[in-house]
Amino acid sequence: MQKFYTTVIFTMISQMVALTTIAQNDKKLTDATLSKNKIEAHLRFLASDELRGRNTPSPEQVIAAKYLATQLRSYGVKPLPQYPNYLQPVKMKKKSKPKEVNLSYASKQFKFIKNTLLLDGANADLNQEAVFINHGTKADFDKINVKGKIAIALCGDGQTNSAQKWFRFSNEKRALAREKGAVALVELYRNQQLPWSVLVRYLAGGSSTSVSLSEGNGKPFTHVWLNDPKFQEADFWKKSKSQKAQIQITGSNIQQFDTYNVVGYVEGSDAKLKNEYVAYSAHYDHVGVGKANAKGDSIYNGARDNAVGTVTVLGAAENLAKYPTKRSALFVMFTGEEKGLLGSRWYVNHSPIALDKIVYCFNSDNGGYNDTKVATIVGLGRTTADVYIKKACKAYGLEAIDDPAKEQGLFDRSDNVNFARKGIPAPTYSLGFRAFDAEIMKYYHQASDQADNLDYNYLYKFFGSYIYSCRLIGNAATRPFWKKGDKYYEAGKKLYKK
Ligand SMILES: [Zn+2]
Repeated sequence: MQKFYTTVIFTMISQMVALTTIAQNDKKLTDATLSKNKIEAHLRFLASDELRGRNTPSPEQVIAAKYLATQLRSYGVKPLPQYPNYLQPVKMKKKSKPKEVNLSYASKQFKFIKNTLLLDGANADLNQEAVFINHGTKADFDKINVKGKIAIALCGDGQTNSAQKWFRFSNEKRALAREKGAVALVELYRNQQLPWSVLVRYLAGGSSTSVSLSEGNGKPFTHVWLNDPKFQEADFWKKSKSQKAQIQITGSNIQQFDTYNVVGYVEGSDAKLKNEYVAYSAHYDHVGVGKANAKGDSIYNGARDNAVGTVTVLGAAENLAKYPTKRSALFVMFTGEEKGLLGSRWYVNHSPIALDKIVYCFNSDNGGYNDTKVATIVGLGRTTADVYIKKACKAYGLEAIDDPAKEQGLFDRSDNVNFARKGIPAPTYSLGFRAFDAEIMKYYHQASDQADNLDYNYLYKFFGSYIYSCRLIGNAATRPFWKKGDKYYEAGKKLYKK
């Protein structure tokens, strides 16, 4: 018995020593490439006035993409065979606002923007049979033939009033309508939570052009929302079922173009674990040139948002290319985040690495900071990788804290959510903030978000914590996963067939 215990204890001690040595080694290897000068150099370039705020699309944004690709190449990060220049084309379209969106049926006329809004599509002149398809669920589309017709649906799903969900349902319905051969989709809108007047400001206000992904065959598909505050039109369609309808759209032009995600990888050092990839991601676009501030500055340089995140990924790439972890590392820097998480949405639907091989996504996105003693991890507490992130932060004198501004819905507002929805555990690593307060708003989406007003001593610790976390996750014996009961836990089980 004595011997047995001694052996057990001895094994335990030597395992602990081994673990600590590996961890200490990872810290040393992190320090080996960490450099305040390099961080500052990258940030000053990416957030320079000459890059004009890296708007999607702009020639300066392509310069930023090529700069990032050049850095990956210089570190020895490998390109994927599909993208030998590290650039993954992302198909987008730019649409100018329509002048008219006229909808008519049964001697009734509806006009833009009093009654109609254009969700998708360009100039059109349709005169077709229109058919009512309830809420336009998959089952509705299977039951009712919409081929060559205008499909008329109720907005939402009849259950929830969440406007955010209505937009998602709307995208799904449009995809179904297109797939089933409909010529257009009209949804009847009534939502007390989001009145028509607010919706008009959101969808038809602001700039005269909008940028979105150009999916499918790239052909525009007409998708209209019709204001139906009293549900009169819904009642009409429920009774009449089928009816001729006309849609005329004028003044809306569409331009197709490519922008780029920047992608590369480093093969893992372990024969088995190298088949698992950890994605390190950040968006590199920002909002471009806008309204001038009091100082006359109109360039929104986006140093915090998100040159900082982009450079953390560069820092990890440089480190992991030199000292690979057991797992393979995938580096993805997204375009079009500020236009609605476009680059990451495209990425997860066109990933050159199968999604079930990507075991974790460690995203970095930033608005600003108001506490240089912490790093804020949006999604801390939701995956089993917390222990590594906390340990890494502590090693650089920072405390890892969870998202303090849950009301902002930050987890679902950055690129990580596109990975999460597919089931991949994906928190977002951010500069330390304890509240979304005035100090953050001073820089958040402002011309003042510049590289010359950053605290580089803090950034050194912040970058060290990120890269050390990457090393610990990449070398961990077991792959991280969602904590039980998380919103995306089931999606994860499905993806990895657990
Ligand atoms: Zn932003």
